[in-house]
Amino acid sequence: MSINLGVHVPIAGGLLEAVGRAKRLRCTTMQIFSRSPRGGKTLPIPRELAERFDAQRRAAGLEPLAVHGPYIINLASPEAAVWKRSLALYRDDYARAAALGARYLVTHVGSHRGQGEPGGIARVAEAVSRTLDGAAPTTMILLENTAGSGQGLGYTFEQLAAIREAVPAKAHVGVCLDTAHLFAAGYPIQTDEGLEQTLAAFDRAVGFAHLRLIHLNDSKAPFNSRVDRHWHIGEGHIGREAFRRIVTHPRLRGIPFILETPKTTARPPGPPVAHAGAGGDSESRAGEREDRRNLATVRRLAQDGAGSRPNRLPRISRAQLVAV
Ligand SMILES: [Zn+2]
Ligand SMILES: [Zn+2]
Repeated sequence: MSINLGVHVPIAGGLLEAVGRAKRLRCTTMQIFSRSPRGGKTLPIPRELAERFDAQRRAAGLEPLAVHGPYIINLASPEAAVWKRSLALYRDDYARAAALGARYLVTHVGSHRGQGEPGGIARVAEAVSRTLDGAAPTTMILLENTAGSGQGLGYTFEQLAAIREAVPAKAHVGVCLDTAHLFAAGYPIQTDEGLEQTLAAFDRAVGFAHLRLIHLNDSKAPFNSRVDRHWHIGEGHIGREAFRRIVTHPRLRGIPFILETPKTTARPPGPPVAHAGAGGDSESRAGEREDRRNLATVRRLAQDGAGSRPNRLPRISRAQLVAV
């Protein structure tokens, strides 16, 4: 079964090199940052460069393009100054994503910082509403589910739905589900039954029509740990069989998958960064090799899994095996 598969591509070598790298990896979709995700001064993207990037990406068949928003913002912040600064940066990032021809801007919904969930949800919704206000938006905002660490919001489907529902232009707001975050937040996607329950719960709360993108990451952190640690596909706690079921699931057919699995960086080892997979943009060719390996794993699972679903044997529980 052919799936629409890509990776988060570093832009440290420039936007055009990012397209080249996605092509070398035989991706059919891609995700980038439009700036350094951890802040710092960012130059505007020259129009000519944006146009060349757009033309080369389209020619390479990389559809859709997703831009991942910056980490340093908090759209749920109760502090007026932080919220205003976050909104300004976010709106700028939205404009950059639109200029690059991105179909999606993936958005972390932020942390409520003690004000409680309803207040945080209202602030994110307000920030998203103001960002979409005005011109007819060509870029859709995707709210990404989180692992639920600290006071972070967005770890339940109900929270994502509440934010989306509170935005007047909600037709331009969808959801991106990250498998590592789902697992860490306590959605049991590692089992066949758990995956079915999770997808049904998503459909009830948000609706399948609004699921636009999946971040495909295994988890180095255990189930329900509320810890965000992306890991190589099939080598973490979620495991190969779960990814086989995910990439071949009929309800997920046609939805683009983006890998944010770890890339070895050229930087000296430092404190671990949350969301390390999508990490800094200083990745070397070693990171490209790791992407190649993870892509090959997913492609193999999509191939093997395609025919095996309908005539799969009934599952035998551990208790039954012991009884035998
Ligand atoms: Zn993310
Ligand atoms: Zn993600």
